[in-house]
Amino acid sequence: MQNVLHTPIEYLKGVGPNRGETLRKELGIHTYMDLINFFPNRHIDKTRFYKINELQRNSSDVQLVGKIVHFKTVEQKRGKRLVADFIDETGRMELVWFRGHKWVRENLKLNVPYVIFGKTNWFNGVFSMPHPEMELLADYKKNLRTAMQPVYPSTELLQKKGITNRAIMKLIQEVMKQSGLRFGETLNQEIVQELNLISKSEAIFNVHFPKNQELLAKAQFRLKFEELFFIQLQLIRKNLLHKRKIKGLIFEEIGENFNRFYKEHLPFELTGAQKRVIKEIRSDLGSGAQMNRLLQGDVGSGKTIVALMSMFMALDNGFQACLMAPTEILSVQHYNGLSELCKELNTSIYLLTGSTKTSDRKEIHEKLENGEIDILIGTHALLEDKVKFQNLGLAIIDEQHRFGVAQRAKLWKKNSIPPHILVMTATPIPRTLAMSLYGDLDISVIDELPPGRKPIKTVHRFDSNRLKVFRFIKEEIMKGRQVYIVYPLIQESEKMDYKDLMDGYESIAREFPDYQISIVHGQMKPADKDYEMDRFLRKETQIMVATTVIEVGVNVPNASVMIIESAERFGLSQLHQLRGRVGRGAEQSYCILMTGHKLSEDSKTRLQTMTSNNDGFQIAEVDLKLRGPGDLMGTQQSGVLNLKIADIVKDNSILSTARWYASKILKEDPDLSDEKNRHIRNAFARLMKDRTIWNYIS
Ligand code: ADP
Ligand code: MG
Repeated sequence: MQNVLHTPIEYLKGVGPNRGETLRKELGIHTYMDLINFFPNRHIDKTRFYKINELQRNSSDVQLVGKIVHFKTVEQKRGKRLVADFIDETGRMELVWFRGHKWVRENLKLNVPYVIFGKTNWFNGVFSMPHPEMELLADYKKNLRTAMQPVYPSTELLQKKGITNRAIMKLIQEVMKQSGLRFGETLNQEIVQELNLISKSEAIFNVHFPKNQELLAKAQFRLKFEELFFIQLQLIRKNLLHKRKIKGLIFEEIGENFNRFYKEHLPFELTGAQKRVIKEIRSDLGSGAQMNRLLQGDVGSGKTIVALMSMFMALDNGFQACLMAPTEILSVQHYNGLSELCKELNTSIYLLTGSTKTSDRKEIHEKLENGEIDILIGTHALLEDKVKFQNLGLAIIDEQHRFGVAQRAKLWKKNSIPPHILVMTATPIPRTLAMSLYGDLDISVIDELPPGRKPIKTVHRFDSNRLKVFRFIKEEIMKGRQVYIVYPLIQESEKMDYKDLMDGYESIAREFPDYQISIVHGQMKPADKDYEMDRFLRKETQIMVATTVIEVGVNVPNASVMIIESAERFGLSQLHQLRGRVGRGAEQSYCILMTGHKLSEDSKTRLQTMTSNNDGFQIAEVDLKLRGPGDLMGTQQSGVLNLKIADIVKDNSILSTARWYASKILKEDPDLSDEKNRHIRNAFARLMKDRTIWNYIS
């Protein structure tokens, strides 16, 4: 059976070299097996036959039995149309062709029963069906078929080459005939029984040609489960092997730094979620395996303090730690914030960024190597080869989505035994997606905001209401608050955006002559940016006009208003990030989304989601649905999502189930050597050998 299914596609009856080439190029179908695994998008329910006198105006997908009794050609303005009179025992209708007349006349027979299928129109009391699908009733009865007709994905080229939906169906039926559809079991008995799965062969048959909706659903469930199960199995296994192979530094001590800070200098009570995550990290650090953990927490959930306390664990065991942030501004802010928190402890904290002076840089390099620096904070500059630690025990990356896997790997090499790695992100990725994308990372979630936060009030205002918005800004500033006004900055139109920003700045300056205004954008020198940020932080300026450079992490608790200009041009996650810059203090905060009147449906959904929702995870789910997972994560990771049948968004409960079973099985039987898991072992080995799984996981 294996052999038949591995036959190159051109050898299949009805394919040949020409069509074979097209199938390979257009659909990636190389073998019989690929064809069997080419799944329909949907099914047309053909359980029902209509009579002509039952037809409704403009119905699609109707199926009838009847005969052609007469052809005629009708001249019309452009070209001709061929019309056939079609009758059944209840009435008469017309079949219409606008092209292919010759073929129709030569091939379709008069007075013989046909099964026809298509969409109907109604005009002047007569129903017509343009370009119907037709099959002789006799053939219809002979063919292997079910009532639910599969509809396969198609392309223009396929249509042009005559590889129609019907042709694909026939080819698949041919493969099924030849192979006998004897697929071996791929899962274990426990899963099959507990999930009440139909057999693999039944599933394959019914996913193409189900008898009814129920069987289709069962077939799809089994195949989706299987697809997700083996991906999860691979991801979790990789993680386990990694833990077994990569020895980690063991931090057993909870010592001086951690305890003193916790008892004497912690500025607030930790939330339950923060405590839980710190425990998870502590247990990783003591486990003997290298930690690779992703910490997700909405903006303002308090990830920084978790980072600091984790770094203390490294320090207390005689190791150094580093914290890398994606921007200069953010690094400086972390440096200032953490230095402040540690001022009563004798922790030595340094900052290294692209704009660190050469002389300071030299000093830092030396002190890192002789161990005088405990914590190094900075940008990408930390990754440079010249930056060598005496003994780096923990590396933390803030805002993971700005960094790639390559950077993580570079940090690994900063110590002879790789340091523990903690990546933090405030771009909440729906948990299910995170599981697939970062399957090799363990995940912690801070799902609780510090107490006393007032939810940010978010409204949508049209540009025409700008004066009211300005009045509101004035009121807030009079109360002592500060205001952000953010303009889009999209790479492709950088010049135009820059102009918008400058125009905006000027009009704000005109409108608010009594206030000081800061401006920050990507084309400024880092030192100038910092200077402006700093003025805003020190409350010397009341309004900050900026592009999205302030998106990530910046913390000015006194700022209570976020105005986002051209809000329709931002993605949901980005809007949520920007909004997270306010609502950091005790005051009521506001986010105002400004747009013009012309809005696409997607923009409306985004705006509406923002005004009705404050939860980053829920927003991320909507974003995922709007944009699709590839876009959300950037192209580099979208390879993970080339699923054949499952949909990472819609099928996330199947994904959770699959992950649960994969993890359970590997816990009990890490090498899949148990006899009861032999089907899984074999199927997995086959997938690995065919490298099927590597299409998902790069
Ligand atoms: P993020 O997760 O976005 O990085 P931060 O770590 O910057 O969040 O924290 C946001 C703000 O909340 C900071 O001002 C921080 O001091 C404060 N904060 C963090 N944890 C708590 C807590 N448990 N109780 C009160 N305030 C907290
Ligand atoms: Mg942060």
